[in-house]
Amino acid sequence: MKVFKKGRLEKILDKLSESAEVYVPMMRGAQSGFFDYKTYNPDFDELVLEALNVLRPPKEVVFPQTEKMYSFKQEGQDVIIDKVYEDENPRIIFGIRACDLKAIEYLDEVFLTCGYEDAFYKKRRENTVFIANACYTPGKNCFCESMGVNPVEPELADIVLREYSDEGYVWEVKTEKGENITRLISDLLEDKEVQLPELKKFVIKVDYDGVAEKLKGLFEHPMWDRLSEPCQTCGICTYICPTCHCFDIQVKAWGDEGYRFRCWDSCMYREYTQMAGGHNPRETAKERFRNRFLHKLEFFYERYGKPLCTGCGRCVFVCPSGVSIVKIIEEIKGA
Ligand code: SF4
Ligand code: SF4
Repeated sequence: MKVFKKGRLEKILDKLSESAEVYVPMMRGAQSGFFDYKTYNPDFDELVLEALNVLRPPKEVVFPQTEKMYSFKQEGQDVIIDKVYEDENPRIIFGIRACDLKAIEYLDEVFLTCGYEDAFYKKRRENTVFIANACYTPGKNCFCESMGVNPVEPELADIVLREYSDEGYVWEVKTEKGENITRLISDLLEDKEVQLPELKKFVIKVDYDGVAEKLKGLFEHPMWDRLSEPCQTCGICTYICPTCHCFDIQVKAWGDEGYRFRCWDSCMYREYTQMAGGHNPRETAKERFRNRFLHKLEFFYERYGKPLCTGCGRCVFVCPSGVSIVKIIEEIKGA
């Protein structure tokens, strides 16, 4: 087995950062997320590879919160596209957990399949390497196993890290991309046979079986009034969700030129479905709340054969009103 000692982590990140942007889980003040290692300042930041789920998922590496798409210029009656901002910079997400990697698989479905390819997403995705961190001790809000994720065998990973003790991590290469990355840091790895921990039991379990089918008959069910009542439509659940992917396209223009960009949007906001003529098909908070759960648990399943939730537990943790997708699934089962 190839392993590295924890004391060598920063050396590995320094080395990898010479040829790619390396996104690592960090605490940065009150925030936690995957930040570019080049911006790491040990006086203010803390590397938290051991954290189960930092608040901001790494989806923004392949699907940024704000992304410039193209710039344009008007010449007479014509509009000329000046430049298309497809981003091919090499990137590494270091320490991504299985639930967030599963979420990337779902983003792939949305942006790359069913007859449509998003060129901006595709370029970033193709140039991103995933160094996953296997989870052996699920957190108190985690329920990925119930949503079809194997926390110790992250799919799509190019390399899997396995924390074998306080001493270090196993470095397990899975793909050719992973082999190429490994060559860069091979002098920081060593050979050692170690005992891997066993996966501990999940505190939260949920039974998703049959939920998508059952939801077909529950659109008008009165439970939605009760369940949506506490929701303040703040939208934070959608921003921190590794699978949510809605965006809006906006323009910034001055004189005869400008650029278009896209930015994340949230189905929890009234403006999301506001139409120019004044009609809004999801005027009320209840309608927006219901849509969020129908999309995650029914519509996405109908289109792609899986739910749009990987059981990361973030929305359960952050919701200021105590809304929990776990309880919603249980309510649907019992309805
Ligand atoms: S975080 Fe909670 S209160 Fe905010 S929109 Fe989501 S469900 Fe509603
Ligand atoms: S819906 Fe909630 S638990 Fe599921 S993936 Fe999104 S943030 Fe995580």
